[in-house]
Amino acid sequence: MNNFCVKRHNNGVWFGTFGLLEKHNVKHGVSTRLGGVSQEPFDSLNMGISTGDELELVMKNRRLFCEAVGVDANRLVTAGQVHGDRIYVVEEKDINKGEVTLIQETDALVTAAKDVPIMLSFADCVPVLLYDPVKKVVAVSHAGWRGTVAKIAQKTLYTMQEKFGSKPEDCLAAIAPSIGGCCYEVDKTVIQSLEKSFSWWREVVTPRGERWLLDLWETNQRQLMDIGVNGGNIAVSGVCTNCNTQLFYSYRAGKGRTGRIGAIVSL
Ligand SMILES: [Zn+2]
Repeated sequence: MNNFCVKRHNNGVWFGTFGLLEKHNVKHGVSTRLGGVSQEPFDSLNMGISTGDELELVMKNRRLFCEAVGVDANRLVTAGQVHGDRIYVVEEKDINKGEVTLIQETDALVTAAKDVPIMLSFADCVPVLLYDPVKKVVAVSHAGWRGTVAKIAQKTLYTMQEKFGSKPEDCLAAIAPSIGGCCYEVDKTVIQSLEKSFSWWREVVTPRGERWLLDLWETNQRQLMDIGVNGGNIAVSGVCTNCNTQLFYSYRAGKGRTGRIGAIVSL
């Protein structure tokens, strides 16, 4: 049930879904780089606007991806991500019908509104999707190392709790393709922040020479379990973007000049 499966929609878009969320009929998807209209080095399904790619092509890609997932692109809500820990609760009134709604300086979106697809974009950073099947709430968080040590996944769940009464033990989480512990080398600055945030930090790092390999998947998984999410309710794709550049964008592999995958969830 923790499987992550990539498939092709008949519009040409390749995207992945989690069995754990499909089982609950949650509309969601994680795009790949295949099936869009962007040109090199953004080829081809780039979801990110602040990449240097042409806006028109990104908008076309977003429409294709929404169509593949089965959500209304005219009601799409995204965020201007800044590697912070601000969380925004999206309501029906936020939607700019006909054009994408952009919530500024926000790294997690939460909504209990129906048919309001929320999407964040990623290239190596960790997408964390959350779903509360009891209170009917969805969320997506952007957890790079800064977001991860700022505990954005935990804070997103706390927001769901405060606003909608979600209980961590009811919630499902899905950790989508992003840079894995196989490739994510970090320096002392990151390790020092990690140490301040998590007592178990040693268990998610592996020394490599003067540096360390950090497992962001496990760091996000454990921080959710720390606040009561059941380990069996967390699906991890286990797919590293830096190891799979034919299928996903990787900021590291592309030396900063590349596209973004999108992670969408909707009630
Ligand atoms: Zn890797």
